[in-house]
Amino acid sequence: MSDHHQIQCSFCSRNKQDTEILIAGANAHICNSCIEQAFQIVEQDAKSSENTLKKTDEFLLLKPIEIKSHLDDYVVGQDHAKKIISVAVYNHYKRISQISLDDNDIEIEKSNIIMVGKTGTGKTLLAKSVAKLLNVPFCIADATVLTEAGYVGEDVESILSRLLQAADYDVDKAKIGIVFIDEIDKIARKKDNPSITRDVSGEGVQQAMLKLLEGTVVNVPPQGGRKHPDQKMIALDTKNILFISGGAFDGVEKHIASRLNTRAIGYKTNKENQYNKENILQHVAPQDLKSFGLIPELIGRMPVVTHLNPLDKNALKLILTQPKNALTKQYIKLFEIDGIKLSFDKKAIDLIVEKALEYELGARGLRSICESVMLDAMYELPSQKTKKELIISSAYVKTKLNKLVLNKLKVA
Ligand code: ADP
Repeated sequence: MSDHHQIQCSFCSRNKQDTEILIAGANAHICNSCIEQAFQIVEQDAKSSENTLKKTDEFLLLKPIEIKSHLDDYVVGQDHAKKIISVAVYNHYKRISQISLDDNDIEIEKSNIIMVGKTGTGKTLLAKSVAKLLNVPFCIADATVLTEAGYVGEDVESILSRLLQAADYDVDKAKIGIVFIDEIDKIARKKDNPSITRDVSGEGVQQAMLKLLEGTVVNVPPQGGRKHPDQKMIALDTKNILFISGGAFDGVEKHIASRLNTRAIGYKTNKENQYNKENILQHVAPQDLKSFGLIPELIGRMPVVTHLNPLDKNALKLILTQPKNALTKQYIKLFEIDGIKLSFDKKAIDLIVEKALEYELGARGLRSICESVMLDAMYELPSQKTKKELIISSAYVKTKLNKLVLNKLKVA
């Protein structure tokens, strides 16, 4: 036997003539099939470490209690909603990580959420804070501009264009993002709509949203708006996108009341069981949303229903002072940069809150009132060398607000 025939693969001991290629190293040889096998091992290993990376790096899988405690830093009150959202979000992302672990296991259903509550009570803030916390892309879509395909307005797919933008067009990131659909109540079925005319911005939109909510691959126009034939589309699977929708559902109270009163007969004398206007929203159930005009199929795809309480004086006070980025803290920081010590008197806070309530401005209005109160100081103080401290008292607030026609601040 010649030397040539004794050259073997150092891994599988195949002789050179039994291999297609045999590569020589310093003291060893490797054949093509061993290279292939080795490559597969390396690739698989890289994939599995990529998966663990995805689970830990791409989004933080926090436990519900941790999620809620983070939300507490930014959102005042609304404990019930926070709890429900924390659990729903946790289950949703647990579901995603389970899918990547094992494809054939029991499939956990999606937990899309509907939040019912007056405007300015923190619905958007809650959704935004959750997305920020989990480090996933987030977008807000306005349901009022949506219409059924083919009519003036935006296709429901345009919602996803925004999510793609928020994810910097990274499809992998976008497909685990959170979409907040605002004013979902505005696409309720129009009751007085004569059946001959199509309800293109109501029921039509609800129908169009069904697939999106449940999970489907959607061709998304990257720039949003209407789809047109020449446009390049990006395919996005909505299976793992969490949809949180919110709406004021003005008038849903009467549906809740009529449902509850049929059950509550005979308990009228008991104060605790009397449902008054303030607390009735806490009893909201899917069937009330159906009576309001959402189609059952849509409600079924957003199975988690929660409510947000109207903000009272105390809550508004806390909003002004407590959250990590509370308005008063922001002003204090702004002045601190100029070396000025700013503080707010308790009575001044009371007055700002009273004004917000008086003019029905709610939490949204706190900022406009504060801006008006602080404007002169923000304008003048940075140029003054001597004044190093400013205390905002109730008298100060009064003078500044007297200058202003508050009605102008009224938010729609
Ligand atoms: P909604 O979506 O319910 O109409 P938002 O979440 O947009 O209301 O709230 C409007 C603004 O009011 C927010 O930017 C936030 O500053 C403030 N706000 C409302 N509710 C709360 C709350 N519960 N805690 C802290 N801030 C709040």
